[in-house]
Amino acid sequence: MSKKPQSAKPRPAISAVLPAYNEEACLGEVTESLHKALGKVCERFEIIIVDDGSTDSTPQLADALAGDHAEVRVIHHRPNRGYGAALRSGFTSAQMPLVFYMDADGQFDPQEIRLLTDGIRQADIVTGYRANRRDPWMRKFFSWGFKTLIGLVFGVRVRDCDCAFKLYRRKVFNEITIASEGFFVDAEVLAKANVLGYRIDEVPVTHRPRAGGESTVRLSHILSTLREAWRLLRHPGLPVRETKPQQN
Ligand code: UDP
Ligand code: MG
Repeated sequence: MSKKPQSAKPRPAISAVLPAYNEEACLGEVTESLHKALGKVCERFEIIIVDDGSTDSTPQLADALAGDHAEVRVIHHRPNRGYGAALRSGFTSAQMPLVFYMDADGQFDPQEIRLLTDGIRQADIVTGYRANRRDPWMRKFFSWGFKTLIGLVFGVRVRDCDCAFKLYRRKVFNEITIASEGFFVDAEVLAKANVLGYRIDEVPVTHRPRAGGESTVRLSHILSTLREAWRLLRHPGLPVRETKPQQN
């Protein structure tokens, strides 16, 4: 008697967003390894590089990568608009049912996207948390303070709110409008998703030192991030889910 064929797990379709500001040292390698990782995991995928007004050779490099791979396309910002604006451009042009993003600086391992695709089966957002974060102690300290604040003020209780390795169901972005231009974007999306009752799960991911180039994060970003948090608190602009009228 012939064996019943085992039902294979359906493979996901993913739009991957790579925000890149002056990442000529890392973008090529990161895009190639992400392309390889998505090819193994996905049924279909696209990679959207958002060149956020770079002044080095990132724009040309991004265009060359799009020329090499049919799945890669590029959005150019002129001039630089900030991390939140870069993610918003990528997220709003995403075509696939799942939307992933990671930074273009080589700090994450694209192969670990499997951890997110496994997790998204029972969640709407799966966020990585850096089990062993490879950043200077000052960054870790400020992140800890920020995370604690976001937990207290917006009720977002995740281990690592600004971990740049997340997978979302695209419907999240149909309901949420991103207002942040800067580094508050991660917290804003999680805060709004939380209000809408979306399920947010977490998985531990590997974190490495930057592969090249340099971080854009400065002390002044603490102030601008807090300003964006204050704006959300004052004018939440939280989207409201349509409720069906009660039938009597
Ligand atoms: N980035 C961007 N626009 C900006 C600043 C940063 O698109 O105005 C990108 C940057 O190229 C990187 C990611 O956002 O891929 C995170 O930035 P960064 O590495 O400076 O932050 P860190 O990793 O130090 O938190
Ligand atoms: Mg980084």
